[in-house]
Amino acid sequence: MSARASVVPVFVPHLGCPHDCVFCNQRRIAGQEQPLGASELLALLQALDETDEWRQLAFYGGSFTAIPVEQQLMLLEAARWGLRAGKIQTIRLSTRPDAIDGAVLDRLHDYGVETIELGAQSMDDEVLRLSGRGHSAQDVREASRMICEAGFSLVLQMMTGLPGDTPEKDLKTARELIALRPQGVRIYPTVVVKDTALFDLWRAGKYRAQSVEEAVEICAKLLPLFDAAAIPVIRLGLNPTEALSSGDAVAGAYHPALGELVKSRVLREKMAVLLQGLPAGSRVLLAAPERQLSQALGQGRCNVQALEERFALRELKIVSHTGEAGQLRLLSVEKPDQTDGKTQRI
Ligand code: SF4
Repeated sequence: MSARASVVPVFVPHLGCPHDCVFCNQRRIAGQEQPLGASELLALLQALDETDEWRQLAFYGGSFTAIPVEQQLMLLEAARWGLRAGKIQTIRLSTRPDAIDGAVLDRLHDYGVETIELGAQSMDDEVLRLSGRGHSAQDVREASRMICEAGFSLVLQMMTGLPGDTPEKDLKTARELIALRPQGVRIYPTVVVKDTALFDLWRAGKYRAQSVEEAVEICAKLLPLFDAAAIPVIRLGLNPTEALSSGDAVAGAYHPALGELVKSRVLREKMAVLLQGLPAGSRVLLAAPERQLSQALGQGRCNVQALEERFALRELKIVSHTGEAGQLRLLSVEKPDQTDGKTQRI
């Protein structure tokens, strides 16, 4: 995977989905009604200009390898043309864990697919059952193993706040996904979208939606786990769309800048570690990397306020430093019992 890839997205909404997962309405989530046909895909690729840019063709929004084989082959033919003509450099697709086997992987290999993204969503069988996923945690383990052994790049998706889910189950899911050694992970806190089974459950009072605050709290615990395992989290939260923002997302953890909120919360917790044990009434000066200063302060200085309250500080000031990302520095502390008026430099 390259972080600098420009993506040519090809939407295949619900194509190949043998189940209707309770939370899913790809047409509303992606804001597009119709899937792209093979001839349209070919035309789209032909129209791409020749550039040195590194481009990835991404089939998303459905379960690619569960699409009728003939239809898969037509799309893959068009994609392979794009590869050979130098219009794209790599192909990625997303699919279900129970739609992977040796024959499927051979076919994808023949057509030059490089990255397979699996919707794992949870590693708890009860959560998977209540979410209508139609596959088990063991299917995720097995499919991931086969994908890695066949030499593909593996990306795993997980969700939080699904029916029957708890923060403990989310942490367990994250640990299990880490053990499968993917090259990347996407985390999608559950959003209640109109015209889904989850919407009906929520309206009937049978499902309690996860709030943005709850999602931020759990994701701020998940992110450091993946970071520590050197597994990049390449997406956090649904891509904001016009439709979702203007009413299709009726409840749950929908926020156009969810990833920023989570990163800011991670920094808050790191700063909390530095403040641990300081006496109430202290005056503290901290420094955060220049590029992360606004994340460290939090939206509307919410991190400053929350930490001042949590540690009963007289004042917390956060300034910037030019050092490495993620590095937080405790610059000075003035304790309440210091009568000499001198500040303790750290
Ligand atoms: S979540 Fe994936 S597998 Fe489930 S219905 Fe949506 S596209 Fe299909």
